Amino acid sequence: MSQDLELLVALQETDLQLAQCQTKTRHFATERERIEAEFQHHIATYSTAKTNLDAVRHRLRDLEIELSHFQAQFAKYTADLQRVRNQREYETAIREIDMAKKSAAQCETKIAEARAEIAKLETEVASYAPEIEKLRAETDLALAENAQAEAAYLAEVEVIRQRRQEMETKLSKVWLNNYARVSKLRGGHVMSQVINGTCSACRMRLRPQVHSLVRQGIGIHTCDNCGRILFYRPDAEAKPSVEKVAAATAD
Ligand SMILES: [Zn+2]
Repeated sequence: MSQDLELLVALQETDLQLAQCQTKTRHFATERERIEAEFQHHIATYSTAKTNLDAVRHRLRDLEIELSHFQAQFAKYTADLQRVRNQREYETAIREIDMAKKSAAQCETKIAEARAEIAKLETEVASYAPEIEKLRAETDLALAENAQAEAAYLAEVEVIRQRRQEMETKLSKVWLNNYARVSKLRGGHVMSQVINGTCSACRMRLRPQVHSLVRQGIGIHTCDNCGRILFYRPDAEAKPSVEKVAAATAD
């Protein structure tokens, strides 16, 4: 087999390897998401309590603002009472004072309820803290292990990539372009082994002359039917290949 053809076969093997690498690289990201989702699932009860706590704290702040508003109204109308000039103004001031007092009292009741609820929720949230801390530590450890494995794997992939680049520099531009064209056309499967005079990829029988040249390793030839680049290995014909048996069974 010519050096170019050997290089093309090696390039194909490398590309198939790199395609598998892509799948495995995605696996690391999926695993990362799974680990984080599992943590979120475990702390769902805690998260609900924490959200409720935040909401009640917010409500308490609003109620306190409301209360100070009614207290200010109460002070204002009490002062007005000192300046009334007739019965009508007196009655109005008294009515406003009563309303402000009543509203403030309602507010105070709601504030007391909110404070009690906050105390209860704070206790609940605090009770989850040790378990969450433990879970978070476990999650972070799992994430770190995943990141470490990914980094190690990516370093391996980088070595394969570099090897591919080296192959590219050794190959002629014409064959590199041909390889790229067929790869695009055939979903990355460019090379086809000739077994018993047949293209193993599409099962098309080769013309005798082409078969003879491929066997002798003279030049580089493509399959007339599928366009893949053909190569021949003598040991492949010594015993029936898996592909051949599968093809025979299918027929
Ligand atoms: Zn073919």
